[in-house]
Amino acid sequence: MITVRSFEEVRAASSGRIGLVPTMGALHDGHLRLLRTARAESDTVVVSVFVNPLQFGPDDDLDRYPRDLARDQGLAMEAGADILFAPEVVDMYPTDSHTHLTISKLTDNFEGAHRPGHFEGVALVVAKLLIGIRPTRAYFGRKDAQQLSVIRRLAIDLSLPVEIIGVSTVREPDGLALSSRNQFLGPDQRRAATALSRGLLAAASAVEDGERHGPHLEEIVAEEAGTEALLELEYVALADAATVQPLGELTTDAFLAVAARVGETRLIDNVAFSVDSDTVTVDRGELLSGPSVLEEA
Ligand code: AMP
Repeated sequence: MITVRSFEEVRAASSGRIGLVPTMGALHDGHLRLLRTARAESDTVVVSVFVNPLQFGPDDDLDRYPRDLARDQGLAMEAGADILFAPEVVDMYPTDSHTHLTISKLTDNFEGAHRPGHFEGVALVVAKLLIGIRPTRAYFGRKDAQQLSVIRRLAIDLSLPVEIIGVSTVREPDGLALSSRNQFLGPDQRRAATALSRGLLAAASAVEDGERHGPHLEEIVAEEAGTEALLELEYVALADAATVQPLGELTTDAFLAVAARVGETRLIDNVAFSVDSDTVTVDRGELLSGPSVLEEA
C-alpha cells in the first residue's frame, strides 16, 4: 500500500476497476467493512483520509476530531487497500473554492437542517474525489443515510460515471453504531447512547410485524430515547430514501433516522427499509462478532 497526497499520484497508481472509500480517518470496523467490500469488487482499492473542514460548522468538533494517520495506514493496509490518499487541506483546496454545490430539497431536513452548510461541504469534497480519482464504484455507509441519498443524487445530476454503493451499518455487540465520535463518550454516556439503536431495532421489529405508520415508528424510537436522561433527542423521522422528505406511511424505500446529543457529542443512527410492492426488507445493520479494532489497539 502506498500513501500519496495528490490526485495525479492516485491516478498514476490505479488501474482496472477502481473502488474508492472516502473517510475522515480514525478508522473503525465500519470503515473496514466498506474497504473489504471494495476489495472484493475492485482491482485497485483507494481509501481517502481527509478531515474536510468545509463540512464542519463553526460550533462543530473540527478541532477535536480524532486524527492518527499512522494507525489508519496499518488498518487500511490490513483491510486490503492499495492506495491511501491523505491530502493536506492545501492539497485539496489550493485556492478558495468559488464553486459551491447545493443539493436542493434533499438537504432541507434532518442533518441538513441541524448542520447548515454541512452537505455543501460534503458535496464539494465528494465531487472532487469522484472527478479526481475516477473510481468505478464508490462506497458509502448507510449509517449516514441522508448523506448516501445526497451523494446518489449528486452523481446522477452531474452524470458522474460511477456506481454509488451503500454498505450496511456496523454495530457494537450492544447495538451502538460504530462512529469515530464514540470515543468521546464517558461510560455513562456510552450506556445511554445504546437507547438509540434499541429504539431503532424495536421499530424495525414493529415493521416486520406489519407496522407501516411513520408516526408510530417514530414514537417507538422517541419513547426508548426518553428513558435515558443523558440523551437529548434532536429528531426522529421516517424519510423517503430518494427525496429525503418526511414519510407518513412506509410505502417506498425509506430510512428511520435519529439524531441525539449526549453531552458534547452528537450521534446519528438509522435503520433502512426497502419496499417492493407489499414486501418490506429491513436493514438493521450488523453486529460485530469478533473484537473491534478499537479493542485490539
Ligand atoms: P466518516 O469517516 O465518519 O466520514 O465515514 C466514512 C464512511 O464510513 C462514510 O461513508 C460513513 O457512512 C461510513 N461509516 C461510518 N460509520 C459506519 C458504520 N458504523 N458502519 C458502516 N459504515 C460506516
